[in-house]
Formats: sequence, structure tokens, C-alpha cells
Amino acid sequence: MPFLKRHLVKIYVEDPGGWLPGWALVLFGLGLFLLVVWLLSLRPASFPSQFFSFVRSRARLIRPEEVRVRFEDVAGVEEAKEELREVVEFLKDPQKFARLGGRMPKGILLVGPPGTGKTLLAKAIAGEAGVPFFSISGSDFVEMFVGVGAARVRDLFAQAKKHSPCIIFIDEIDAVGRHRIASAGGGHEEREQTLNQLLVEMDGFESQDGIVVLAATNRPDILDPALLRPGRFDRRVEVPPPDLKGREAILRVHARRIPLARDVDLAVVAKSTPGFTGADLANLLNEAAILAARQGKSCVEMEDIEKAKDKILLGRERKGIVISEEEKQLAAYHEAGHALIAYLLPGVDPIYKVSIIPRSHALGVIQQLPIDERHVYPKDYLLKKIMILLGGRVAEEYVFGQASTGAGDDLEKATEIARKMVCEWGMSNRLGPLVFPHREPYGYPGRDFADIRAYSEKTAREIDEEIENIIRKCYENDRELLSRHIKYLHILAETLLEVETIDGETLKNLLSDLKPLKNVRFS
Ligand code: ADP
Ligand code: MG
Ligand code: ZN
Repeated sequence: MPFLKRHLVKIYVEDPGGWLPGWALVLFGLGLFLLVVWLLSLRPASFPSQFFSFVRSRARLIRPEEVRVRFEDVAGVEEAKEELREVVEFLKDPQKFARLGGRMPKGILLVGPPGTGKTLLAKAIAGEAGVPFFSISGSDFVEMFVGVGAARVRDLFAQAKKHSPCIIFIDEIDAVGRHRIASAGGGHEEREQTLNQLLVEMDGFESQDGIVVLAATNRPDILDPALLRPGRFDRRVEVPPPDLKGREAILRVHARRIPLARDVDLAVVAKSTPGFTGADLANLLNEAAILAARQGKSCVEMEDIEKAKDKILLGRERKGIVISEEEKQLAAYHEAGHALIAYLLPGVDPIYKVSIIPRSHALGVIQQLPIDERHVYPKDYLLKKIMILLGGRVAEEYVFGQASTGAGDDLEKATEIARKMVCEWGMSNRLGPLVFPHREPYGYPGRDFADIRAYSEKTAREIDEEIENIIRKCYENDRELLSRHIKYLHILAETLLEVETIDGETLKNLLSDLKPLKNVRFS
């Protein structure tokens, strides 16, 4: 004040009391307070412009001309790309697609660990099809005020309908789509309302409307089953971390923007980066380029890449995502065990891929057609299926002398088949062709969970014994087969350690001097 006075600034003071009654002031203060609370609930980034569109969806609309990503920019996930090509065809001309009898799923779930290119794939679809792309993160729906998330979902779909054909991309859908029962326990009303609104919206449009909802998650296991029902996210596309070839391809994509020195061999880089995702590899080349630039080099040399890799690995070790050499060995023998058994057994579905690239849960996978409920399977087939499932565990035990947790999923599946054989399909000689009802291990919410067991304790014990017999028999068969053909188990495992993924053709070549069995005996 003195400062102002000294500089001859005139000061006027108005007395508000004269024309505003006290209660109006109180109301005004209250309003101001609410305004502040409201503002605080917004994220700083969206402060001024979105102030009056609080309930509008926070989706970012990217116009077709702004989407620069194409399929060729996404590497190392060829299977996912193949599956998604159809979506591009659909978005280019939904009516034509429908006329030709194509049925497009409304919702597609991209499943894979962070950094494998899910967001990139979603953008590439929009880019290839030349359609707008609405991008929003699941956590943007979840606000502190009940009803806001649901309103945002409604608004998002309303906007999308105006811009169709288009893509809605919901990143981290697990933030809204968690299993409602699993997460029960108060305080989740807002999220539930949001989820319900999402379900309503997904049911409310027709696939001819030209909207495809893509969602990404790395936790498909915690999603509410209601989200995965037909007509919602009923198609699932796996986006796994890349294998050796995939890593090289991704490096090539990102190396397009970077001048490389002659001594840089991307195949060698790919070999030395097991467990790296696409994001890690992009980061690797970026870091290397920064290192090179800092030293005033005109291109990136191998030593820059090596240094960048050390830096990233150190960072990653703290996070504990790196696969250790032992784990990799274990995975290789485990998968080789499955594969060798599947190869030896006659009349089973051929293997089209064996891989030790870690996925969300398992350390590796073999890919075979799964058993579905619609077909009729002979008993033999089921027993062979169990043998294949157990093959991983048996190989681990045979080679390393002890079991690991890596086979938990397999054992669960094997036990489930054995249980069905005894209890549902009447395949046990001892118990005869009877059905023993049993409650489902995974019920849907709202379903009756009452135990409907209708047999004696003695029968229950016999059922357990029969299931155990089946598993034990298959286990012994496996052990016998693997020990007889241990040489091939080593060949497969070593190849897997080297190249990480083996396709069906290569598998046949590796085992070319091993004849599959003519038949197997189970009793
Ligand atoms: P996610 O959504 O699965 O977490 P992103 O799509 O966000 O992964 O990937 C982050 C960045 O990593 C991408 O922008 C891209 O530069 C790079 N990247 C990831 N996966 C790939 C891939 N398969 N091919 C090429 N680049 C990839
Ligand atoms: Mg992402
Ligand atoms: Zn397994």
C-alpha cells in the first residue's frame, strides 16, 4: 500500500455491505467453495478448457488425418495384426461388410503386458481404415463423484455415433471393468455404475453402426465376466512380448528414423535383449541415439546401443521383470515337455507354436486347439490331452529333479478334464456311467452357488480316487515316454533357449528321425 501511494496511484474501496445482504454473501461463499472442490477433482491438465464440460467424456478425439500409425509400424505381433485386419475392412465400409455377410464383433479386447504395442495397434487400425479414433483411459471414468463416470460413458458413445465409422479405444479397461464380486466391499458404487453404463452402451448399438470398441488390459483375469459375454468384448486378441524375430523386426521399424553405423547388427541386438517389449526396444534405440548425439557422433554405433542396454537393464532389474537364466531354462524344458508328448501321441491336434516368451501368467506356451464343449470326444482323446497338459511338469521334474509353480495352470486344466470324465461323462469303469453333479468352480455373479452334491461321502471319496488314478496314470505314461526320448527333449529345449519360438514346421524338422507312436495304452 505505501508503495502504491508513493507512486500516486489512486485507490478506491467499495463497501460491499451496503448493497449485498449477509445471506447472499454466505450463499456466494458456499458457491465459491463448491467451485473449488469441483476444480480440485479435475486434473490440472484439463483445467480451463474443460471446466464447463465436466461430465463430458474425457476421450481425446484424433481425426483420421492425424493418425499417422500404420500396420507396418507395428512389428513382431503378426498374429494379432492378422486378426485385426478384418476390423480394418469392416471400418472402411461397414454396410458393405454387413452385406457380404460379415459379422463384426462390437468389442475386441487386446490382452498383453505393458509396452507390447496395444495402443499402437489400436491406432494402426484407425490409421489403416482412415477413421477417427477416440482414446480414453479406464481410470478417466472413475471419478470421486457418483454418476460422473456413467455420464462420461454415455457422452463418449453419443460422440462416437456422430463420428461413425470410428474406433473407441479404452485403455486399461480393468480400472472400470474389475469383477464386481471380487472387488465387493463398499466404496465402489461409482465404478459399478460406470461399468453398468458401459454394458448398456455396448448392448445399445448395432454393429452396422460402424463403431468398434477396442479395449486394452494386462489383467484379463480380473475383468468382470459380464464384459466378456457375447455382444460385448467377445473377441480377445493376444499381444504377447516379441520373440527373437519379432524383436529384430521392431528394432528395424524404429531404426528407420536413426542413422546407424556400419558395425550395428540389429539381429545381434535382438539376440541380446530377451524379455524386452516393443516399448523397451524403442526406448533402447532412443537412448542410444541420445548417447551418440551427446558425443557429437553422426550415427549410432554398437557401443552406444550396448551402453543404453546396460542402463535400461539396470533400471529393469529393480522392477524385477527380467527373466533369469534359470527361469528361462525351466520354461524351455517345460514347454519342450508339452511339445514332445504332443508330437509323440497319435491323433491329437497338431502343435502350431511352442514359445518360451513369458505371457501374462505362464512362463511359456504351446498352442494347440483347445477342447470345446460342442464336440464329442472319445475317452482316449481326453487322456492324451491330459498327458500333454502334464508333459510340462513331468519334463521339469525329470530334468531338474523338482517341480516348480510353473505348471499350476496345466494341473488345474488336467484335473478339470479328469473330473469331468468321472463325474459328467461316466468314463470311470469303477463308478460306471453315472453323472455326479458338481458345482461349477467359476460361477457367474448372480448364479446360485448352493452345493448340489447328491451322493454319499463314500462315492465322493471314490470320485476323488478315480480322478487321482487318471492323473497318475497319465503322469507315469509321460515319464516313461520322456525318459525314453530324452535326447529329443534336450534338442527341443536347447532350440527353444536359442530362438524362443518354434513353429509347427520347425518342430517336425527337429524331430524328423523320431516316429510318433502308433498307439498308447492307458490301463
Ligand atoms: P501398450 O499400449 O501395449 O502398453 P504401446 O502401444 O503404448 O504399448 O507402446 C509404447 C511404444 O513402444 C509405442 O509407441 C512404440 O514406439 C513402441 N512399441 C511397442 N510395441 C511395439 C511393436 N510391436 N512394434 C513397434 N513398436 C512398438
Ligand atoms: Mg498402452
Ligand atoms: Zn505348461
